[in-house]
Amino acid sequence: MRDAFSAFNDGIVMTNPYPVDQVEIVQAPLPDKVVLPLQQRIGDEAIPCVVVGDKVLTGQIIAQTQDVFCVPIHASISGTVAAIDEQIIPHKSGLKSTCITIQSDGKDVWIEREDCGDFLHCSPETLIHHIQQSGIIGLGGAGFPTHSKLSKSLDCHTLIINATECEPGIMCDDALMQHYPREVVRGVEILLHISGANQAVIAIEDDKPEAYRSLLMFNHNDKISIVQIPTKYTSGAEKLLIKTLFNVEIPSGGFATDKGFVCQNVATSKAIFDAVIENKPLVSRIVTVTGSGVVPNNFAVRLGASFAHIVALAKPDDKQHDIRMGGMMMGVDVATLAVPICKISNCIFVNHTKAKPHVQECIRCGQCNQACPVGLLPQQLYWHAKSEHTDRAMDYNLRDCIECRCCDVVCPSHIPLAEYFSFAKALHQQQMREKHKTDVARERFEFREYRLERNKQERAEMMAKKKIELKKKMANDKVQKDKIAQAMARVKKTKQDKK
Ligand code: SF4
Ligand code: SF4
Repeated sequence: MRDAFSAFNDGIVMTNPYPVDQVEIVQAPLPDKVVLPLQQRIGDEAIPCVVVGDKVLTGQIIAQTQDVFCVPIHASISGTVAAIDEQIIPHKSGLKSTCITIQSDGKDVWIEREDCGDFLHCSPETLIHHIQQSGIIGLGGAGFPTHSKLSKSLDCHTLIINATECEPGIMCDDALMQHYPREVVRGVEILLHISGANQAVIAIEDDKPEAYRSLLMFNHNDKISIVQIPTKYTSGAEKLLIKTLFNVEIPSGGFATDKGFVCQNVATSKAIFDAVIENKPLVSRIVTVTGSGVVPNNFAVRLGASFAHIVALAKPDDKQHDIRMGGMMMGVDVATLAVPICKISNCIFVNHTKAKPHVQECIRCGQCNQACPVGLLPQQLYWHAKSEHTDRAMDYNLRDCIECRCCDVVCPSHIPLAEYFSFAKALHQQQMREKHKTDVARERFEFREYRLERNKQERAEMMAKKKIELKKKMANDKVQKDKIAQAMARVKKTKQDKK
């Protein structure tokens, strides 16, 4: 793979290793069953609002959460809830998670949904709520909830539609733009209406001329421009894309919205069109199936269908395969084809199984430092990540690592650097959470001590006050008693004098 690198620190030119003559979208048949995980990319696990045995319609909400970062989960086929139990999900942990399984009735009957009407007459808040209720999250891979991003972007001046396919081999966005250019452009118009941005830029790599032409043909809006950028790996990373398009740097730890930009993925734009214009929630997506073990193609598939369901359509050969979700670089290995397609499953790589290279010690060659497109020092990060000194790694801007694996592929020692960085980030977050918990516990303890001490002082002051009052009272009583005794003595004396 290293031969594919032609430039360092300016992005990496990589060609699609599995090119196709024509970018198609094959409609996958309805699956017999779908498995829908309740844990989404971000936020709390959703709570089912159906029970086993319930009949559900396509598009019906089957699980909800109050977490503002989350979206509802919709049935992607009509049928019967067959199980609510633990299933393996497509995650690098390989762990199980609670899922709802729906057995298809083969009819695909859709639920009636409340329409939000002409979007031009809707407030941004109404549309953001409708998008949230339609289950839309970023379809580029990060899976950040779209409604949450939109809520934070109402002051932005520029909307960027990221139409750069993040890695070579993935063709689903190219296919989407070629087959649904009108819907993409209309989706961008809805996003412009919501954000109030002055302009929208659709950024597309220059190796997708057909998609570029299709979008140009259907764009009649002066506020929307379609810009071709050089095809270089990692140019689709949000901060790098803003730098390429506008020469604006987003500082370490900062956000695009800090500088007035908001980025949305091109497939998300089409999903917004479906939700707002067609009134359909997100229940399917386009997935590229590629790799040395299949005939590469794109498939429109219902969420929750198994990987096996669409890999079978890509005519896999009978050799042993390694399965990867996402791209060759940033994807995650999955152990089984039994896992379900989820909203961020943009690509499935099915490659002939190869022996993994032997990992050796770092020889301090510095090649990783030259390869990092973000300008980090992976060699330093590696030492601190390996020794679990995450604070030191953060000093070297670990949070800016986009886990692109450019450093991995140039490392002569085959060290899985990005895995170390991913682990170090997760560990740092956990340490921060634990530190926060410890800080809260310490503050509570200190407040309790302070409260007890204050009570003690207040009691002592009260006792002292009471003592003084008592003394005063006793002194007063004595004066009174003396006065009474004197008065009685006077009366007695007067009586005696009269006698
Ligand atoms: S994985 Fe992180 S450190 Fe390595 S090249 Fe990519 S951004 Fe840089
Ligand atoms: S490329 Fe690999 S061996 Fe070279 S400095 Fe980086 S981590 Fe060490």
